[in-house]
Amino acid sequence: MLESGWATCEGSVVLVDRWDVIGFRFVVSPVHDAVPGEDGSRPFGGDAKLEFLINGRSLLELVREHERPLAAADGQPGLEGTYEPLSFRRAPRDLLYGDPSFQYARGDGRTTLIGCGCGVVECWPLVARIDVTSDEVVWHRFAQPFRRWSYDTFGPFRFERVRYDGAVEDLDRRLRAEARFPAGWAAYLHRLSVSSVTGNLRMFQARLLALRSVDVLPLDAMRAKPRNDVDAYRKLADQIGELLRVEPLTARVIAAMDPDQMPMLSIERHEAIVAALSGLLEIIARDASDDETAYARWLDVNRRAQKIHDGGGIAS
Ligand SMILES: [Zn+2]
Repeated sequence: MLESGWATCEGSVVLVDRWDVIGFRFVVSPVHDAVPGEDGSRPFGGDAKLEFLINGRSLLELVREHERPLAAADGQPGLEGTYEPLSFRRAPRDLLYGDPSFQYARGDGRTTLIGCGCGVVECWPLVARIDVTSDEVVWHRFAQPFRRWSYDTFGPFRFERVRYDGAVEDLDRRLRAEARFPAGWAAYLHRLSVSSVTGNLRMFQARLLALRSVDVLPLDAMRAKPRNDVDAYRKLADQIGELLRVEPLTARVIAAMDPDQMPMLSIERHEAIVAALSGLLEIIARDASDDETAYARWLDVNRRAQKIHDGGGIAS
């Protein structure tokens, strides 16, 4: 569609005789931070590699063409266009309006548009400024931070605001429909959270019990326990189990403790950790049957669990 109009760029007035057209293409990919299930499989879905299309052509292809003579002049033919599309769990609305999340921001007002081909975005990014007015969105001042390559003849790309908005809305809808969380994701994350927090809670409960029962524990036997002697270790655990009337798992944790280290462990700190982990289990137990909530909660549980370990029990 050919149109004419005036627009300002860098304080000067230039004639715009044609709007560029933005488009998007994406491939749904595995969830990067998924932990394998009991059978070793990882749930798929939930993330997408997003390619930007300008006038129907991939930005990656366009920039590769532009960089080819620059890389050759540097004696590094083949280095041109060694990028990979960025990853988005959600429509990248903020990035597309020049206000990217921290990982895609450059700190100089520029935005990362494509990342390094190795997968580590910031190790070789293509960056640009995205300026937005009520009439238009402009992508300009492209740069490759690790080369003094000139992009003066690359862009600027000027998109009519109303059509740009429409394309982003459409992308948003498509991403929500296609880059969904996988089926059973909520249940999977719930299982994962419960088992990891429960395991930690049991361990700290056992250690706390040992610290409180230090007077009755067979400290000499614990001190003398031979390494790698499974039978002797099992016997010691059985003895502790009977002595303290606790289940085998608790007895095994205590049997593995080093009595010479126990005076250095604080009962108060262990009490705080046990209380915090119990509180965390209550949070997990609250209903999280939909996938979005389950994912947000899983991230939150991990953050809190990390804080409990780092800070001795304060889960805020
Ligand atoms: Zn890299």
